[in-house]
Amino acid sequence: MRVEHFRRKTPEEIDLMRAAGAVLGACLAHLASITRPGLTALDLDREAETFIRDHRCVPGFLGYDGFPNSLCVSVNEEVVHGIPRASRVLRDGDLVALDCGLILDGWWADSGLSVACGQASPDVARLIDVTREALERGIAAARPGNHIGDIGHAVQAYAEAQGYSLVREYVGHGIGRNMHEPPQVPNYGQPGSGNLLKPGYVLAIEPMVNAGRAQVRVLDDEWTVVTVDGRLSCYFEHTVAITEDGPEVLPMRPAHATATAPV
Ligand code: MG
Ligand code: MG
Repeated sequence: MRVEHFRRKTPEEIDLMRAAGAVLGACLAHLASITRPGLTALDLDREAETFIRDHRCVPGFLGYDGFPNSLCVSVNEEVVHGIPRASRVLRDGDLVALDCGLILDGWWADSGLSVACGQASPDVARLIDVTREALERGIAAARPGNHIGDIGHAVQAYAEAQGYSLVREYVGHGIGRNMHEPPQVPNYGQPGSGNLLKPGYVLAIEPMVNAGRAQVRVLDDEWTVVTVDGRLSCYFEHTVAITEDGPEVLPMRPAHATATAPV
């Protein structure tokens, strides 16, 4: 894995990104809380856009590379980048991945989560649990002195040990004034490879875990990524700042809230 050069964020810049993350964390928590059978993917998109604008932020995905909405909604075998259509009515037991990005005062936050719609089958519940834990392990590896490859290795080692596979075509990324900045953050890797992590890195870590094989393809809409074998896929993402003390999750949700966080 090659080393990519870029400017690290200052503590003041991370303060601004923390504010953006707080809004996005609240937005995603709201979307997860209202996801239920009978709702359409477009309903969730409308809810996301309203929430973002009500908090004086810009929906970052809207128009990004031509994406038509503010939220990606990827259901069951859809991996990421699902277009939230009115024709997609959520059903009981669906695995629903929500990916959202916003801009506050010029700074990006990018985060997402997966939830079961209504009653989760054991297969869906387990895949969600493993993918969430894979992200936690990746975050825990995002500390000064480690390398980018340590993050991917932590994600990969855990998810594969549970019998799942990692998507390779799509990766995490640096983030700041742009959604996608160097370095790339794959969900696989060798320990000690790639950039040495230092305070001031801000990374979007986003494992995409498949129940079956790792292979994916893009539908004719040129956005929606699906598993080739048609089996379930799950996704979680956090924007994470690397500080002297270790990783700090910027999109704060209750599980990550701390006494000092502006939740
Ligand atoms: Mg994202
Ligand atoms: Mg991302």
